[in-house]
Amino acid sequence: MSNGIAGKVVVITGASSGLGEATARHLAALGARVVLGARRGDRLQALVEDIRQAGGEAVHAVTDVTSKAQVQALVAAGREAFGRIDVIVNNAGLMAIAPLQQLRSDEWDRMIDINIKGVLYGIAAVLPLFEQQGGGHVINISSVAGLKVYAPGGTVYSGTKFAVRAISEGLRQEMAGKVRVTSIEPGAVQSELPLGSGDAASRAEVEAFYQQQAIPADAVAQAIAYAIGQPAAVAINEVVLRPTVQDF
Ligand code: NDP
Repeated sequence: MSNGIAGKVVVITGASSGLGEATARHLAALGARVVLGARRGDRLQALVEDIRQAGGEAVHAVTDVTSKAQVQALVAAGREAFGRIDVIVNNAGLMAIAPLQQLRSDEWDRMIDINIKGVLYGIAAVLPLFEQQGGGHVINISSVAGLKVYAPGGTVYSGTKFAVRAISEGLRQEMAGKVRVTSIEPGAVQSELPLGSGDAASRAEVEAFYQQQAIPADAVAQAIAYAIGQPAAVAINEVVLRPTVQDF
C-alpha cells in the first residue's frame, strides 16, 4: 500500500542543515524524490550523494531564497529532473535574536527577506504549476514564536513567524479545494539556528537554552511526512510540536 509519499516530488529550501536536511533524508527514505535548495552547494552536493547511496532520488540547486529568480530556478530544476512538483517545503530561515534597542536593522532586513519574502517566492514559484497540475501542497515552517512573541530578543523573528502563519492561512482560504497548506510550528529543535544572531550575549543565551531543551530535527521531519502522507482529501493545516520540557 502507498505511504502517500513515495514518488512525490518535494522541493525543500534550506536543505543544507537542520530541519531541512533531516526532512530531505526522511522523505527520501520514504520514497519521495527531493529537490534541495540552499546557499551552501557543497553541503547540498554531499547530501544528494548520501541520499543516492541509500537508494533515494535527489537533485540540488544552489539557491538564495531572497532571489525570486533563484527560487524559480530551483523549482524549474525539480521539474526538469522529475517532471512535476507535488510539494514545496518553505523551510529556509534565520533567527537573529537581539533586543530591538540594539537597532540591528541589517538583521531585521535579512530575517524579513529570508523568512517572509523567501516563503512568498516559494509560493509564487509553485502556484501556477499547482493550478496546471490540479493540485499540490505548500508546507511553511513557522515556529512557536509565531504563536507567542518571544521578547526581548525575538521580536522581529516572532514577527516574521506570525507572518508565515498569516500567509499560510490566507493561502489556505484562497486555494481551498486546490492546494493543501500546512504550517509547522516547532519549539526548540537541534540545528544551526541558534547561531544566527550577531549579538554575542543573545547568542550565548539561546545556545544554552537549546543545549538544555532542543529535540532532534527528525521530530519535525516526521511531522512533515505525516502531513504529506495524508489522503488527498485531508489537509493537515497546522502542527505545533515542542520538547516536552519547553514551557515557551
Ligand atoms: P538551520 O540554521 O540549521 O537551517 C537554516 C537553513 O536555511 C540552512 O539550510 C540555510 O542554508 C538556509 N538558509 C539561510 N538563509 C538562506 C537563504 N538566504 N537562502 C537559502 N537558504 C537559506 O536552522 P533550522 O533547520 O532550525 O531552520 C529551518 C527552519 O525552521 C527556519 O525557518 C527556522 O526559523 C525554523 N524553526 C526552527 C526551530 C528550531 O528550534 N531549530 C524552531 C522553529 C522554527 P545556507 O546557509 O546553506 O543557505
